[in-house]
Amino acid sequence: MFWAIVLKKRTKLFWATGSVELFIGRVVVFAGMGVMLLKFYSLWDFMTIDFYLSALKQPQMPQILQPDDYYNIGGGVLGILIAGVFILLVLYLKKVLEAVLGGLEMFYALFAKRPLFIHFYPIKKELEPNQIKILEQQFAFYNRLDNRHKRYFRHRLATFLFDKDFQGREGFVITEEVKILVSATAIMLTFGFRNYSIPCIKTILVYPRPYYSNINKAYHKGEYNARLKTLVLSWDNFIEGFRIEDDKLNLGIHEFAHAIHYNSLRHEDISSVIFVDTFNELREQLASNKDLKQKLKDSKFIRSYAFTNDSELLAVVIETFIEAPKEFKRLFPDIYAKLKQMLNFVFTGY
Ligand SMILES: [Zn+2]
Repeated sequence: MFWAIVLKKRTKLFWATGSVELFIGRVVVFAGMGVMLLKFYSLWDFMTIDFYLSALKQPQMPQILQPDDYYNIGGGVLGILIAGVFILLVLYLKKVLEAVLGGLEMFYALFAKRPLFIHFYPIKKELEPNQIKILEQQFAFYNRLDNRHKRYFRHRLATFLFDKDFQGREGFVITEEVKILVSATAIMLTFGFRNYSIPCIKTILVYPRPYYSNINKAYHKGEYNARLKTLVLSWDNFIEGFRIEDDKLNLGIHEFAHAIHYNSLRHEDISSVIFVDTFNELREQLASNKDLKQKLKDSKFIRSYAFTNDSELLAVVIETFIEAPKEFKRLFPDIYAKLKQMLNFVFTGY
């Protein structure tokens, strides 16, 4: 399965060679070739400063600048052009280097099944003291981390908060508690990822309770709308799922799992590739091993909604994985291992 990763990476390498920077680079090269042709056919004159100088020296033209000034201006323009080409070259080399290093990391992931590194932040954002307090008082996952990882968690959370637009509906007021608990759920799920910000979510809508959907003509507790890049939650149900930690029901985790799945299908960073590829392995495992699938259904450990379709399977098993890891590991160690690999969840308790 991991060969698919290598193939995907090749697409990425191709992308790097089809970038805007290279397009501009090609234009510069063709323009240079054009100039050489003009010189070859002795049509070079209009490209030189002297050509314009002689034109400007016509008696009717006022002589504001001395000839030396024109040479200086010409030199300046040339300097800017050279600097521009240099910057384009550096940008292009950066892209190529990233693609090559990315390819090497994919090779590493072929065996390690995880990214080479997760956290690297030259500049770290920090939360407000009242925000940290909410995290410390209410978010168990955060409290189980060591100090270094707590710092990373806060940086990621601050970045996520800055990036997403929270809106209350039907009179619901977005408080700091709402923002922190919802965002921390996303940050927890992607804490084993390198790219953690889920760009396929722009807006988070919060209703006070289940809301009526005109599309489905039914009440909803939450949903992820990929087209609108919007995650929708009913606060009553979110907080209920959040407070009861081991009932394998957690609306926030469920909806974010859908969003992460969609996001990973559309991105080619190492964490997205591992997430999607490992989920495909899990699906194939369940498709080929009918006994295992039946055992999973019969056990009632995973709620039956999981078997609606693959997308719900993914969301429900992740909900179960986060809320009941010990039981999951004991009952279905193979599936548990796949989920741990998908999320790169190497944290205390998992
Ligand atoms: Zn769902």
